[in-house]
Amino acid sequence: MIKKLWIGLDDTDSKRYGCTTYVGALLLQSLKAAGYNVIGYPRLVRLNPNCPYKTRGNAAIAIAVETDKIEPIEDIVIRIIENNSDLQAEGTDPGAVLVVGEPSQSLREYYWHVVRDLSTIEEAEKIAKENNVSLLRWKAGRGIIGAIAAIGADLTLGKTYELIAYRKKEYWGTIRLVDPESVWEMDKATYPLTFDNIDKETGEIRITPHTPCPVLLGIRGVTPNIVEEAYKILKILEPVEFYVIFETNQATDAHLQLAKIKDVKDSVSVIIDGVVKSKPSFTIGGHVFFRLEDGTGEITCAAYEPTKKFRHIIVELEPGDRVTVYGAVKKKPQGLTLNLEKIHIKSLTELYLVKAPKCSVCGRRMEKIGKTGYMCRKCKVSLSEPEIVKIERKISPGVYEVPASARRHLSKPLALTSNY
Ligand SMILES: [Zn+2]
Repeated sequence: MIKKLWIGLDDTDSKRYGCTTYVGALLLQSLKAAGYNVIGYPRLVRLNPNCPYKTRGNAAIAIAVETDKIEPIEDIVIRIIENNSDLQAEGTDPGAVLVVGEPSQSLREYYWHVVRDLSTIEEAEKIAKENNVSLLRWKAGRGIIGAIAAIGADLTLGKTYELIAYRKKEYWGTIRLVDPESVWEMDKATYPLTFDNIDKETGEIRITPHTPCPVLLGIRGVTPNIVEEAYKILKILEPVEFYVIFETNQATDAHLQLAKIKDVKDSVSVIIDGVVKSKPSFTIGGHVFFRLEDGTGEITCAAYEPTKKFRHIIVELEPGDRVTVYGAVKKKPQGLTLNLEKIHIKSLTELYLVKAPKCSVCGRRMEKIGKTGYMCRKCKVSLSEPEIVKIERKISPGVYEVPASARRHLSKPLALTSNY
């Protein structure tokens, strides 16, 4: 009987070499070449961006094929991983897993745990045992965590697509030959159905990475058709090895969960409703910090230097403003600190300036006399009430986000959102 078999893999890359998506793409090509029917799109699943063991993007891959035999697939997976992982590098601990049939509820829950929190190899082993997951591992095998999570990922709640084009090996490490004009043209024709093509603030092309990896470019979009259509608009001036369209959890906010400040801990990503407690200010290094409270506690919120113009919104907040903050929490010398990805400014507090009133005769500011009175000595005019001036706030309620260059893979861009 033909069965569905899920293959997951993770942690095949290192800081100096390789790319988990490339290993996934090679596995896909090998499976197809061996005559297997691949079901649906291969998955590129981003996991907790705060994971201290992560390489660059903390990505895992899952592919589903039709088969009734596991062993020949295992042989292909082993060959692909051993030939294309940086096994010599410290911290590269590949893992691959195989699951027959659809993932259980327990695997689905494990995905949410891994995308939002930290897991351990022991926890992954326990889940694998309880759910008949076959494990393949190299060295410490930390990759089994992401590999299981990628299979458990439930993308019915939200998904996007990424077309990744790969380079011929002789071009790895050289400048990527993609005509920037054509990227602007592609963006104009397809944005916001494709997104993060260009950082509009700096003009930086975002589809091409800067690392010496095999990726030529990646186009993110809301449907498989639009990323392919966008790809065809590009003028690419070097040969392309091949391209793959992945189904992903990128740009879905899957990592974020509503939380109260008292429950927040290191390395989780959260959404907190609160009130600004302290006036934000720029620090050395160009970072902006403020304190937020929600009735259960207080936390520091940060807009770091790379968030550029976003900081100029944050620095205009005042104590008493009601906001919802979105971001990853890290333990820092100043305590738990939320690295802002987005902010919803819900209401601005009204600010007033109390001034001495003007003299009705000569127009000059009066002098304060005693506790409540004001007087113009020259004209001998007195008043008991000060002048109260409403301070014009420089920001408006609304949702603000960091620029594309500072956005995390999992963060949902506002361009894809209409319901804030
Ligand atoms: Zn006067």
